[in-house]
Amino acid sequence: MNCNNSPLQSLNSGGWFKLICGASFQHVPSIRSLVIAYGLEGADCIDVAAEPAVVAAAQEGLGACERLVHGTKPQGDSWQRPWLMVSVNDGEDPHFRTARFDPSRCPAHCPRPCERVCPTGAIAFEANIPNNSAHSSVIEPLCYGCGRCLSVCPHGYIDAVTYQRSPQDLPALVLDLGVDALEIHTHVGHYKKFQTLWRSVRPYLPNLRLVAVSCPRHPDAIPYLREIWDWVGSDVRRSGCAWLWQADGKPMSGDLGQKATDPAIAYGEDLLRANLPGFIQLAGGTNQTTADKLRQRGLLGKIAGVAYGGYGRSQLKPVLDQLEQREQRCNQTLTLESQADLLHRGRAIARNLIAPLKGSVPVNSPTNLTPAPLKQRP
Ligand code: SF4
Ligand code: SF4
Repeated sequence: MNCNNSPLQSLNSGGWFKLICGASFQHVPSIRSLVIAYGLEGADCIDVAAEPAVVAAAQEGLGACERLVHGTKPQGDSWQRPWLMVSVNDGEDPHFRTARFDPSRCPAHCPRPCERVCPTGAIAFEANIPNNSAHSSVIEPLCYGCGRCLSVCPHGYIDAVTYQRSPQDLPALVLDLGVDALEIHTHVGHYKKFQTLWRSVRPYLPNLRLVAVSCPRHPDAIPYLREIWDWVGSDVRRSGCAWLWQADGKPMSGDLGQKATDPAIAYGEDLLRANLPGFIQLAGGTNQTTADKLRQRGLLGKIAGVAYGGYGRSQLKPVLDQLEQREQRCNQTLTLESQADLLHRGRAIARNLIAPLKGSVPVNSPTNLTPAPLKQRP
């Protein structure tokens, strides 16, 4: 179950698994639980919003993984802590937005297609909406900006609020909170903005193990990425950190059916042909079929790995929902690891997604994990 090559070895062998929690998704309790389930089962990287509270929650999840694994020595000795990654953007990007609308404008007879289409339950009219959503029916920490609600509202009442992750938080994130990796989201045509952002990132390269550039598929993506490499290549070589291209096939669509993964694979093949320096990893539309499709096309190992976002999170949602229901019943905060059955189920779900990608990687996993005693999180 737990595949324990180091993240760098996984990149080299083609078994790199990244869990994308989301640049906009900031539901801290879910992030902690996602990190535990996927982290224990061999995820190489956890990609979270560049928000100190979110990074702290992910670190807390990784700490819980370590405590659980150390209870299983000697097998636990081989467990490798996943790298923690945060993302910044150089301009408008759907990964960095949340939906917002004023529910008082909605007609009483509206059948609320927005509520039905939301994959995370972020639109909830009767729910206990947190203070930060007081003027909207969108529970902001649950919204990851997929945009599906925007197109279904017959009145066009839902707006997307986009934002730019400022690099001003980088010192705290990289130096104080111990982030291992950074991802820069860019788009064809953003070259000047990318250059500006890169100047802010450059001083922190020696503190990072990996820098990734994520760019959506576009007819001019390859020449654009070449331009980027010409600009950053000497900095990256000097710093010694690893470099990765994230082929973002069809952003935030992994839960939209099996074919959603095809654009990411086609984009990955384009990048392989371009022969740019660095690792190539797929994202955007990746799901349970991605690893098998890569294997069938002989691409496993050439493509360094796969990132799973909405699909990976949606798989674990029933477990997270159940944990929340138990919390409501006993009126206290529960950790995933305090609920042995849920931890077991969550790990099994994570294993099912990770194992096909790691098929050729030696497996050595901690067993007999002892659940920690019930405790209250501060
Ligand atoms: S449908 Fe997508 S954009 Fe709309 S609220 Fe839900 S997660 Fe956010
Ligand atoms: S679909 Fe539009 S009008 Fe209907 S409830 Fe949702 S936001 Fe309101």
